[in-house]
Amino acid sequence: MAKSAYEYVRTFEQDDRLLPGCWIVLRVDGKGFTRFCEEHKLEKPNDGRALALMDASAEAVMLAFPDVRLAFGESDEYSFVLPPSTKLYGRRASKLVSLVVSCFTATYVRRWAEFLPETPLLSTPMFDGRAVCYPNLAVLRDYLSWRQVDTHINNLYNACFWALVKGGMDQAAAHERLKGTLSSHKNELLFSEYGINYNEIPARFRKGSTLIRQRAEVRVKKPDGSWGVREKWVLQVLHVDIIGNQFWEEHPHLVE
Ligand code: ATP
Ligand code: ATP
Ligand code: MG
Ligand code: MG
Ligand code: MG
Ligand code: MG
Ligand code: MG
Repeated sequence: MAKSAYEYVRTFEQDDRLLPGCWIVLRVDGKGFTRFCEEHKLEKPNDGRALALMDASAEAVMLAFPDVRLAFGESDEYSFVLPPSTKLYGRRASKLVSLVVSCFTATYVRRWAEFLPETPLLSTPMFDGRAVCYPNLAVLRDYLSWRQVDTHINNLYNACFWALVKGGMDQAAAHERLKGTLSSHKNELLFSEYGINYNEIPARFRKGSTLIRQRAEVRVKKPDGSWGVREKWVLQVLHVDIIGNQFWEEHPHLVE
């Protein structure tokens, strides 16, 4: 485009390139989802349909941005991990955050009716986003462990809270009853008063969702119409522990 007298305003834009050589995490989180879940009468403590919609929205991000190595989701949030070597959008924070947020949000809205066919979408879901750099793999793993521990703590608390509320207690009394209780107390309460074995609650709720790319054999139709088998990268949603070493040893390509 021809230069104009107004061109100089471009120099007001600030450089927001993320540090080179660091892992990048882009995290999105639903705005006011406590209210949003009430408004849409989602199941408590965990609505599996809404979680599956979150996973589908995260898959769309991974398909649109092949540089994303791994994603971890729980509740109304998802974290997307980019490797230290990524050059995507020159590592510009605002480009990366805004594109991930809009891809995620647009997919969430576009596919809502597929996952919650009985529930009309009554308001506009919004997600915030941030970018954080982590200087090495150890800190990146601590970040992911932090999110998965959060999943566990919230899920155990919410399992107890909603068991009490569904059992007839009012919400303030249920919070009061759980104040200061240890994990062991909560496990015991669930088991002795409600017959719920915490470890039998679905892994999706206890462990969150981890999205990765895996090599897999897929059936492909050849030009002559016959079927063959080919190795391809495919997206996979796992509900497993990512705190211990086993997951990382099983998937070394994630951190190469
Ligand atoms: P903020 O705008 O600050 O993020 P928020 O209300 O979204 O506010 P969060 O800390 O993000 O607060 O918590 C998310 C809320 O959404 C929690 O109350 C959580 O229980 C609820 N929630 C998220 N996903 C589900 C789901 N699939 N089923 C039931 N409840 C959910
Ligand atoms: P980038 O991802 O870098 O933004 P881009 O293809 O979106 O790439 P832009 O500089 O943003 O590039 O240009 C927007 C393009 O979309 C132009 O080609 C413009 O003509 C076209 N476009 C946008 N809105 C309309 C519209 N309402 N009708 C027709 N063409 C449009
Ligand atoms: Mg929040
Ligand atoms: Mg939120
Ligand atoms: Mg949240
Ligand atoms: Mg433009
Ligand atoms: Mg454009």
